[in-house]
Amino acid sequence: MLINAELLLQYQRCKRRPFLDIYQDRSQRDTVSDLLHKLQQDKNFRKKKVLAKWIFQQPDYPQRDTQAGKAATVELMRQGVASIHQGVLQVYYGNKHLLLSCPDLLIKQPGNSPFGDWVYIPASIELGKRPKQEYQILAAFHAYVLAKIQGSPPPTALLLLRGKDTAYQVDLTKWTPLMHEKLIECIQVMESQIAPELFISRQKCSLCHWYANCYADAKSQKHLSLLPGVTPIRYTQLQTLGINNPETLANINPEILEDLPGFDRIIAAKIILQAQSFVQNRPFVLPQLTLRSKNNVTNPQLPKPNIRSNKAQITPYNSYQTSFPKKIIPKPSSLSRKSQIFAEDIVRSAPIEIYFDIEAQPDLNLNYLLGVLVVNKQTQTEEFYSFLAERPKDEKLIWRQFTDLMCQYPEAPIYHFCVYEFDTVKSLGKLYRTPQSIVKPILNRFVDIYEQLTQSVTLPVESYALKAIAKWLGFKWRNSEASGAKCIYWYDQWLKTGDRNLLEIIQSYNEDDCRATYSVKNWLVEFVEKEYPWGVVSTQKEQE
Ligand code: SF4
Repeated sequence: MLINAELLLQYQRCKRRPFLDIYQDRSQRDTVSDLLHKLQQDKNFRKKKVLAKWIFQQPDYPQRDTQAGKAATVELMRQGVASIHQGVLQVYYGNKHLLLSCPDLLIKQPGNSPFGDWVYIPASIELGKRPKQEYQILAAFHAYVLAKIQGSPPPTALLLLRGKDTAYQVDLTKWTPLMHEKLIECIQVMESQIAPELFISRQKCSLCHWYANCYADAKSQKHLSLLPGVTPIRYTQLQTLGINNPETLANINPEILEDLPGFDRIIAAKIILQAQSFVQNRPFVLPQLTLRSKNNVTNPQLPKPNIRSNKAQITPYNSYQTSFPKKIIPKPSSLSRKSQIFAEDIVRSAPIEIYFDIEAQPDLNLNYLLGVLVVNKQTQTEEFYSFLAERPKDEKLIWRQFTDLMCQYPEAPIYHFCVYEFDTVKSLGKLYRTPQSIVKPILNRFVDIYEQLTQSVTLPVESYALKAIAKWLGFKWRNSEASGAKCIYWYDQWLKTGDRNLLEIIQSYNEDDCRATYSVKNWLVEFVEKEYPWGVVSTQKEQE
């Protein structure tokens, strides 16, 4: 078997993927998505940029003839050239397996090898900013193969990370044993001829060309990984208890789960309710949603969620979430974080409401579109504002336009989905030195619909992303192909080509995001009002 760095990389991300790459019919792969295409372009661009700073030589050999490639690389090493790009190194691992390593660079260093008083060290150009485990294991892989070729172990291996001026030195004494573990495990899995079990994880699977294939399998099996909150660790625990499908999980006593690794009392109760929601295909109010009545206790006459042991208390923010719905993984923000959501907080309405959504280009550290939907219930009008930076330098201008509009509606709550909008307004305020007297009152009016939703209800959805929830409600985006990730790609294309159609698609997608947030908010209000009819009306009257 031929094992290269790409196979080992994919194995670390998902054991099933390299297995399918080897044994499954290629025609069943998904077509390359725009997102993957952009990722590949970014990788190539980054490599070119880094390599432009190096003077290197390349081995000359007939394409695909790795044996000749190895001979040409060894010849350059023997000559002692300063650095080699796209060298080919291959050695046998045991009798049967051939390891093929093509590090981005081989760099000459003082040392001792059969070639003379020099050795080479491998260097990998990575797109990421951090020295992730998977990068370090691959660096150890290159170093191991190189050591066999040059008859001397390289003292280190380098990672050339994005945004870092100096190379990261990999500790080979630490990572080489781990690399061998992974390699041996990988070989065993590939030789077993049994496909490793799938596990749908949106973050990892969305970049995989087997997604449609695995997702169809998961659907037909009613695989537990489709339930939000079921992480790989929790899945393993459930399996050891013989809980293999949502029906069994829906009927389990939470006390059986709450002491297991990966669970606690709150998570156990929530996951079971999530399974019930999935099985019965209906939403539930979470037990911790209460009324802010005098004694702050739930009215005993109110409907109780269908759960056997109602021990759950307040869920800490994000403690349950496993699939992050927006462009950037949300971090809890101190200002937006609430210790508890009450039913009254959700049903509270205002004559004018604002729905806000941002499109960003993370590579440029740019927020290029601030979309605002103003809903005036008194005049029964809706107006959408699209503050768009056609050029990255216009971010400051659109920020100003946004704050001006917010100041025109000083009482209006500003609804958004997830913390990205909140955090971004905070950082744009700092970046453009906007007075706190302007930024703070805006932030104080922010209401995170995602937070309200996930702390108050459980839905029969596979993810608590805006798209998944709004689709479940029947909301339709005008462009069914559009997504946040595609907008990043389209904005990039707009900067390169000047094609205005792309801007229009992004703007309508962003408007639909605002409208989707509006529809989720409306649904949530109606649902909570229906579940708490007496309590909410009564409490509102008390407040009046
Ligand atoms: S779709 Fe997900 S589970 Fe399937 S092979 Fe790809 S990463 Fe693995």
